[in-house]
Amino acid sequence: MFGDQSAEPYFRPSRRAAFSVLGASVVAGLTACTAAEGAYESSTPVLTPGAAAESPAVPAASVSPAPTPTPTPTATKRIRKSFVPDYQLPPIVGGLAPVITKIETQHPVVFLTIDDGNIKTPESVKLLAEYDYPASLFLTKDTIADNPAFFNAFKAQGSLVENHTVTHNINMVRQWGYQQQLTDMVGMQEYAFHHYGRRPTLFRPPGGAYSNVMRKAVADAGMKAIVTWEAKANAGKMDYQVGNSLRPGDIVLMHFRAEFAADLAAFRSAQLAAGLEVVLLEDFLGVA
Ligand SMILES: [Zn+2]
Repeated sequence: MFGDQSAEPYFRPSRRAAFSVLGASVVAGLTACTAAEGAYESSTPVLTPGAAAESPAVPAASVSPAPTPTPTPTATKRIRKSFVPDYQLPPIVGGLAPVITKIETQHPVVFLTIDDGNIKTPESVKLLAEYDYPASLFLTKDTIADNPAFFNAFKAQGSLVENHTVTHNINMVRQWGYQQQLTDMVGMQEYAFHHYGRRPTLFRPPGGAYSNVMRKAVADAGMKAIVTWEAKANAGKMDYQVGNSLRPGDIVLMHFRAEFAADLAAFRSAQLAAGLEVVLLEDFLGVA
């Protein structure tokens, strides 16, 4: 144990399991996506990425001297990489996707993940842009189908859409066999590809519970890993499964809920206090 939080967070020798490759079948009690999800509300889409528009780097040796108006229609701002990732995503072994709970890294980085997609407010777009946070958005088809275009604004800021199923059945591990789980995952893969032009590489189980059957379905659906968490921003405050502050490599869970601004404020406060940079998980894992 290293409960004592001392001054140098980056070189902790601890070898906490960063991912569960062992068969531990079901992780319960990770209260993601709980009751508050019932609230469902839509709002006006924000489709103006204007503020985020930055002029892209000009290619060095441009062929034509003619002033061609460079159309950069959906040019996304790629995530800054001020580091060389020091973490290797475990491979799929025996047909089972790895499960990642935290990234073992010596870099002062933290990863923001935002789930579901129920509450769609211009404010959430504005805040992520203002803080320049890229995030992994684990979206559920059934909660975004009323307005999938809303999430394009985040994409334009450098966030990526990942897979949180079609139906968000928090009991899928217990109630469904392999084929039904796979179908629910593939449905979201295709939906994401259709609306956002990319098939997700990461999967977050609704409610957080997973099993080896799920790990196999995730791999067979074409994804690289199951991603859980050890810290979350919830009800306007941070909750930690380990310790009482953010650590390098933490994966933080949030939701698109009514209290988005308060949750993000709690996260930002913890992130700044810990001196961590918010970087995109997919960039760090090489699965963007
Ligand atoms: Zn969820």
